[in-house]
Amino acid sequence: MLKDATRYRYGNRDDAARCAHVDEENARRRELLAAAHPAWLRRALLEAIRDGVSPREAAERLRTSFQAIYALARIDPEWGRELDEATSAACTCEGTGWKRQEPRKRCHCPIARAYRAEESRRERAQNP
Ligand SMILES: [Zn+2]
Repeated sequence: MLKDATRYRYGNRDDAARCAHVDEENARRRELLAAAHPAWLRRALLEAIRDGVSPREAAERLRTSFQAIYALARIDPEWGRELDEATSAACTCEGTGWKRQEPRKRCHCPIARAYRAEESRRERAQNP
């Protein structure tokens, strides 16, 4: 009996084969994402962010992306915690999330990020 992912490679397209293929692809993407962010790069990102560089700017300077470093945080909780610690160390909103910040002075701590996420959820709910 072949594994479902193997059956997919032989051309089977039933639900079990498709699901196994998707799982395999997702696992491969997670491995690539982790491999593209070795320890030295993660340390450099955290150092820049602690120094007050925005996560987006830090990621761009180090030739990765904002999306990639937060996607990595979703699959690697340890990295997520380190990222939260670094953005908290550089917090400029004093844990308030600052309701009306100038875009260039945005705080990137977890509280400010949660506040903005909630705010944009509310805006989307009002303007569907
Ligand atoms: Zn803050």
